[in-house]
This record gives sequence, structure tokens and C-alpha cells, in this order.
Amino acid sequence: MSINYSEIANPSIRNLTPYQPGKPIEEVQRELGLTDVIKLASNENPLGPSPKALAAAQEALTRIHLYPDGGSYELKQALAKYLAVNSQQLTIGNGSENILEIIVKAYLNANNAAIATQYAFATIPLLIKAAGAKLITIPTVEWQHNIDATIAAITPETRIIFVVNPNNPTGTYTTKNDFNKLLNAVSQDILIVSDEAYSEYINQDDYPDTLKLLPKHPNLIISRTFSKIFGLAGLRIGYAISSPEIADILNRARLPFNSNLVGTAAACAALQDKDYIAKSISLNSQGRKQLEAGLKQLNITYIPSLANFITINIQQDAKIIYEKLLQKGVIVRPLNAYGLPTHLRVTIGTHEQNERFLKTLREIIYV
Ligand SMILES: *Cc1c(COP(=O)(O)O)cnc(C)c1O
Repeated sequence: MSINYSEIANPSIRNLTPYQPGKPIEEVQRELGLTDVIKLASNENPLGPSPKALAAAQEALTRIHLYPDGGSYELKQALAKYLAVNSQQLTIGNGSENILEIIVKAYLNANNAAIATQYAFATIPLLIKAAGAKLITIPTVEWQHNIDATIAAITPETRIIFVVNPNNPTGTYTTKNDFNKLLNAVSQDILIVSDEAYSEYINQDDYPDTLKLLPKHPNLIISRTFSKIFGLAGLRIGYAISSPEIADILNRARLPFNSNLVGTAAACAALQDKDYIAKSISLNSQGRKQLEAGLKQLNITYIPSLANFITINIQQDAKIIYEKLLQKGVIVRPLNAYGLPTHLRVTIGTHEQNERFLKTLREIIYV
């Protein structure tokens, strides 16, 4: 008798729709026989890795026969200094998606619920559903997380409220006022998770400085990553900053060796590379202006973004435009999985990459 391995799997897992990542460059080269391919699909840093991080990673390679330090002592020390927090407030993860997973593992179950906005970063609803918890989705207002509706949706079951700030794939952000309103409205047994994968790019007065809010709000958890501005997506390092009480729980919930030796060494060095960080910020703001100007010329609307990507509305089946861009060696991200069939998400690249994207899009649209 043959076993149906889907049937005997946990229902919360069996019914998940897998996350759709950006297409890797090698896959497009292989499948389409192209050599000159650019990827603007996963919000990676177009500068490549920081030279300091690269050197630290190479040095660390001589030690990869050893287990990493499960407690990530050095990275925690470096981060504590960088963020001006206590190292006991930190949890290190295998990417920040692992941080989100650890939070869910520690605090969500089939008897409670979590709230997220419509169009929230796809990993978040995925994790909530995988935990068997109830997912409450709040419709956006002009692409924004509706904080008033979020507060109104709280029930006795609510354990976590996720705020993705800025959100991926919309690029929109929750203001300081709204964030404070939420923090002040909830009872402290409800965790507020602020997913800030792009916060280092932001220099906007009304963007919340959540680190400052931590001492007064022990239910706040901030999630950040080395994958975006720090240019280490392939090495999978992310972290949480929280009250020491929550950090203690998260560190119990994580796997003993969830952060790798090469990644933590590179992350320590990346924090020190101020030039690289400054260059990344300025390249991104120049590239955003370049893309916005180019899109206006093409009469293509976009959602204003604070992050390192822009989501555009091409008013037609975006999957077709996506495929045509692929054929010409430009990988972007279709957003069908988000219920946005006419939108594409484009990572802000180098000046040349942005030019190539705009030129290729023009060729496709005005054939
Ligand atoms: C990219 C991203 C992450 C996850 O990045 P990791 O590589 O797992 O650190 C988390 N949240 C948002 C909103 C993102 O866009």
C-alpha cells in the first residue's frame, strides 16, 4: 500500500503555498542561453559585498571545520556597540526570516492569532499559517498599513502584530505617529514585531526610531538583517533586538548553531565599513531618482518607496512583461502571489543596471 505523504503531513504545512523567490542569474543563463544577465529581483546590494566583509569571510574560511560560536559572542558585542544596546537584548538568526520564524515558534500556536497588513512581506503570513495560528489580514489604505484598523482588529486571541517597516513589496512605511499609536494602544502581552530589513536606507524624520522605544515597551521586537544594505544575503545573518526577557526566550527557541561562522565574521566586518554603507545609501537614493524619472517618461506609475526597490504598475498582465524582460536578460519580480497581477517589483541597481532596465522596458512596451 502506498503512503500519501501529503495526507499524513501537518495540515498547517500541507496547505502552504511555497514562497516564490527571485529567479537566480544562473537559472536564466542556463534556461535562456544568455550570458549578460542582471538581477533586480531580490533587493540585493548592487555594489557587491563590502571589501572588509569579503576579507573577513575569506579569513574565516580557514576555520570552517569548526562549529561556529553558538552564542555569537563577537557579533553580539559588535552589534551592541553599533546599536548602543545591551548584548543581552540580541538574538542572532540565519537571516532575519529565521528571526521571524523563531519569534513565531516561541509565541504563536493554534490557540492564538497574529495580525499583519495586506501585502505584508510574504514570509510573515507563511510563518503564521505554518504555526497553525489564526492570521488576521488588515486591508491597506493607499498601500499603507492601516494602524487604526489594526488596533480595532485586536481580540483576546491576538499574540503578535507584525509591522513591516518599510514593507516589501510596497515600499510604504508606517510613520512615527502611527507606530506610537499602535504601541500605546496594545496591552503588553501583545508583541509588536517591527520588521526593519531596509531601515538603514532611511533618512526620514517621521520614520520611527524603534530602538529608542524599546526601554519603555518590553513587548517590542525589532528584526533587522545583513542581507540588504550590508550586502551579505548569501551568508544568511539577521538579528532581533528586544527586551532581555524576550531575547532569553528567543535564544531558547532557536537552533543551537543557527548562525554560521563565515557569516558572523563577515557581518562583524560589514558593520565597520562606514564607506560602503554611505556609498550604498547614496547609490540607492540616486538610483531611486533615476528610476522614478525614467518611469515618469514612460508614463508608468509606481508606489513611492523608501526602500531599495520600487513597485511599478504597468496596467497590463505583468507576467508577460516579466517574461519579456527575462528574455532580454533583466530579472525583476512579478507580484501575482501578492494578488498584484499588473505590478512588478524592481530592485534599485547601479546606474547602468537601472538604465538597462528602463531601456529594455521601453523597447518591450513600445514595440
Ligand atoms: C529581505 C527581507 C527580509 C529577510 O531577509 P533575510 O535575508 O532573511 O534577512 C525580511 N523582511 C523583509 C521585509 C525583507 O524584505
